[in-house]
Amino acid sequence: MIDLHTHTTFSDGELIPSELVRRAEVLGYTAIGITDHADYTNIEHIISCVSKAKYLEGILDIRILPGVELTHVPPQKIAQLADLARNLGAEIVVVHGESPVEPVRPGTNRAALEAGVDILAHPGFITLEEAEMARDNDVCLEITSRSGHNITNGHVVQMAIQAGAKMVVDTDAHAPEDLIDSERAIQIAFGAGLTLEEAREIVLHHAIIR
Ligand SMILES: [Zn+2]
Ligand SMILES: [Zn+2]
Repeated sequence: MIDLHTHTTFSDGELIPSELVRRAEVLGYTAIGITDHADYTNIEHIISCVSKAKYLEGILDIRILPGVELTHVPPQKIAQLADLARNLGAEIVVVHGESPVEPVRPGTNRAALEAGVDILAHPGFITLEEAEMARDNDVCLEITSRSGHNITNGHVVQMAIQAGAKMVVDTDAHAPEDLIDSERAIQIAFGAGLTLEEAREIVLHHAIIR
């Protein structure tokens, strides 16, 4: 299994990268994205720090994708910051979508989809038109295990299926107990309305990793 959305002490997570990655390895992950909260003020610092977690590759049996989660960035600045993140070496760009439990600025989902980021996290009450943009721009829609953000998982899955958009299960882990194993990830996708077969396909074959 893979998990492309996690946090460390470089933003509001509890673990430094080495412990986060080790715990993920023990749970059987084959890849982990380290995507600390970033905006214009800290993006260089975050990418510079999390990229150093690559030192673990080749020692641990897990692929590490350093990245960012652009968080509460005004929609009109998202494309520019996504480009900057890539130029600074981010291998995964996540945007903190319009979660139902936070005052994320309306237009954030759309800006992330237009920018063609890798993952639109917890996109809340995403519209069908937006899900179609996700399909066209190859943006993965997130099914999240994180409580609060996960209350719209069922809606996200419905829109993604109708539009034919890709989906990914992420933990958005901030603490050790937030990490899950693949059985749990399959349950989360199944519980969100996918068939068991589709849930297994998404968790175990993860079309998103290139
Ligand atoms: Zn988020
Ligand atoms: Zn997050």
